[in-house]
Amino acid sequence: MDCMFCKIAKGEIPSTKVFENNKIIAFDDIHPKALVHILVVPKKHIESVKHLQESDKDLIGELFLAAQKIAKDKGLEGYKLVFNVGREGGQLVDHLHLHLLSGDFNG
Ligand code: 5GP
Ligand code: ZN
Repeated sequence: MDCMFCKIAKGEIPSTKVFENNKIIAFDDIHPKALVHILVVPKKHIESVKHLQESDKDLIGELFLAAQKIAKDKGLEGYKLVFNVGREGGQLVDHLHLHLLSGDFNG
């Protein structure tokens, strides 16, 4: 499948990895919109929140817990967690990802 985040998850496209386990990978956003901007991504290809199924509910919980761990490990005091959904929601990459943003929201 021609999906950028699937390729990153498989290591076929390089990324600055900050977290990985068997189900999730997290890496720095290539065009950061805050001082810290990390994408927390399930390795399973799911297009968006719209495409989530009942069977994905544990995975979604794990995405948030991975984001929490990354933030804690980086010593972040506060942060924003965002899912963009569909083009009108600002989603450009059609593989589910949780944005973890912290610091400097003026840019
Ligand atoms: P979306 O707009 O779909 O919610 O977010 C996609 C994000 O992926 C954007 O913030 C964009 O900068 C980032 N991005 C797009 N292509 C790549 C890439 O090849 N590598 C990395 N690390 N980030 C990417
Ligand atoms: Zn994918």
